[in-house]
Amino acid sequence: MIDGSRGGNSARFLNHACTPNCEAIETGDRVYVHALTDIKPGDELFIDYGLSIDRKITNDIRARYACHCGGSTCRQSMLWGATTGMRF
Ligand SMILES: [Zn+2]
Repeated sequence: MIDGSRGGNSARFLNHACTPNCEAIETGDRVYVHALTDIKPGDELFIDYGLSIDRKITNDIRARYACHCGGSTCRQSMLWGATTGMRF
C-alpha cells in the first residue's frame, strides 16, 4: 500500500487525477511510478488512486473521497468504480 501521509515517503508528491500522467506498477514488494506522458520539470505528478473500500459506500465516504481534478473525464471520485458500481 502506498500512503504518502505516513512516514513522509516520496509518494506524498503523487496526487490523484482521473486522467493521470503517471501510473504505479507493483513488482514484487516494490512500487514503481512510470510516466504516461512527457513530464516537464515543475509539472505536478498524478496517478489514479483507484481506491477500493471494503464496506458500503455511504454519502459520507463519497464526500470524503470526492475528486475535484477538473479533468474532462473526471468521475467525481478517487474510488475505483464509484460511478459504475464496480469493485467496491
Ligand atoms: Zn477527477
